[in-house]
Amino acid sequence: MSMLKEIQKSLFKKKATVLYPFKEREKVHIPEGFRGKIVFDRDKCTSCLLCARFCPSGACEIVTDEKGKRPIFHLELCLFCSQCQEVCPKGAINLTEEFELAAFDRKAFTIR
Ligand code: SF4
Ligand code: SF4
Repeated sequence: MSMLKEIQKSLFKKKATVLYPFKEREKVHIPEGFRGKIVFDRDKCTSCLLCARFCPSGACEIVTDEKGKRPIFHLELCLFCSQCQEVCPKGAINLTEEFELAAFDRKAFTIR
């Protein structure tokens, strides 16, 4: 009986779900402070290597390029904790609101 009441009430309520990803992509609510895909700005990086030191999961790997040492980020290992962003003194790392990270090519998980 109580279930019938609930069904009756729900018939006239605003729906609680969205048809993501088919219809309402732009309406998906992203909470403030959400930590998604990493964006890295090589020009700002001064090779201090703090990001790699504080990364708890080994997702931040240090490599060498023509300018010197710099991080690359392996999203498949990343916890999206934002420690790297917080410790970077130059603002070279930014965790964006991008959450659709599925890909067929593994290379898409490496941020350079
Ligand atoms: S967000 Fe966290 S886990 Fe991911 S690379 Fe930065 S420090 Fe490492
Ligand atoms: S913490 Fe920032 S400046 Fe230092 S190596 Fe990492 S990205 Fe570059």
